Amino acid sequence: MANSLKVAVIGAGVAGLTAARELQTESHQVVVFEKSHRLGGTWAYDPRTESDPLGTDPNRDVVHGSLYNSLATNLPRHLMSFTDFKFDEKVYDDPRMCPGHGEVLKFLEDFADRFKLTELIRLNTVVRRVEVVVVDSGVTKFVVESETSGVSSVEMFDAVVVCNGHNTQPRLPTDIPGIETWSKKQMHSHNYREPGSFRDQIVVVIGSGPSATDISREIATVAKEVHVSSRSPHVKVAKSNEFNNMWQHSKINCIKDDTVIFEDGFSLDADIICHCTGYQLHFPFLKTNGIISIQDKRIGPLYKHVFPPQLAPNLSFVGIPEESFTFPIIECQSRWIAQTLSHKVFLPSENEMLLDIERYYEELNEKGVPEHRTHYIGFQTSYIDWMFDQTGMALEKSLKDMFEYFNHCLVSAGVDGYVEAFSRKYGSGSC
Ligand code: FAD
Repeated sequence: MANSLKVAVIGAGVAGLTAARELQTESHQVVVFEKSHRLGGTWAYDPRTESDPLGTDPNRDVVHGSLYNSLATNLPRHLMSFTDFKFDEKVYDDPRMCPGHGEVLKFLEDFADRFKLTELIRLNTVVRRVEVVVVDSGVTKFVVESETSGVSSVEMFDAVVVCNGHNTQPRLPTDIPGIETWSKKQMHSHNYREPGSFRDQIVVVIGSGPSATDISREIATVAKEVHVSSRSPHVKVAKSNEFNNMWQHSKINCIKDDTVIFEDGFSLDADIICHCTGYQLHFPFLKTNGIISIQDKRIGPLYKHVFPPQLAPNLSFVGIPEESFTFPIIECQSRWIAQTLSHKVFLPSENEMLLDIERYYEELNEKGVPEHRTHYIGFQTSYIDWMFDQTGMALEKSLKDMFEYFNHCLVSAGVDGYVEAFSRKYGSGSC
């Protein structure tokens, strides 16, 4: 029998919108809390930056978004789709296969309109506290304290779906001896918007992910020199083929007297260090009396990156997996949560879920995967397959083939060629 619950969704980015849609399909009563004045989360580009460019000052006014103005998606739009609402079948202003951020925002706004989600969203409403309580009948409920224009309110919910994003709180390297003595400018990519302030500067960019690649290339168009440092053991010092003022280096060995010394022996008097070193998980509102903890980007225990066994299915997290097909993963997680809450789908016992998590941690350990990569599931389809299977759905063969072909392109053509390789089979366009 259907079980209709009062559910709070925190955040109206891709995860919150998708969760709201699936919960509504299952006839749950949904309230989406969104601290910003508009929906879209990360994809609602925000030109503002924070007062502390490193993002470490706890008293700073936090800006949620981390997109830079020039950002185009690093995945073809086909892979940023939902199973029945496909981005590759829609063009708003930007027909590129990997469009700019504005196009993604339009897609999400269209999605929200199509499934009548806007009426569920309380904009300008920040969630300050989510606390687990056991009411008289022994049932677990959640107190949600929120604030709109300085006015607080407290409500009780049967379930909470956490969709607050994980690309806001900078994660900085802790293993560069002497970094604390650096007296010149330092920033995190969270606060990078445009290259103008790097004109004629000597810049060190730390990182090797998509942000480090995009930002170093953009800065190279105006800077005097750009030196990119990667911790990957395979990197050798090399001049870029694309820019004659850009070099690739190994890891930084140390910083001494404002000189950056790389492990490759090269040293440099730089003007700015830009950390493109990713983000921490951050749930400042969550009070679970230690049931859930965060340790170096591992939030746990979480069954399949979604449910904390002790509070499942009434507390859940959407969008935790990283380096993955984010939109499809968010869709299948959301459906699983909604149908579990309506008792169409059942979870294993608490102990079985805990055992599964333990086995997963052991597997990571055996493979030498560091803790901070617990939720990096990669561009594979087995997770999506498994999750859809829980709700009695099979991933369409054509979609599965496309995901697998993308993975093949990534492996065979590398980061510089994967989009072109993908577009040879799935249509024209560029990134
Ligand atoms: P978000 O989009 O961050 O949304 C979270 C929402 O929660 C926000 O609206 C926020 O205001 C709200 N919120 C947070 N805390 C509270 C609170 N306490 N109370 C109320 N509301 C709150 N993914 C791709 O698939 N393709 C790409 O090309 C791609 N490029 C990226 C490039 C960059 C630079 C970054 C940073 C990320 C990129 N991503 C990309 C990943 C991207 O994060 C996801 O696509 C997606 O935006 C994640 O959605 P989300 O809903 O989980 O989080």
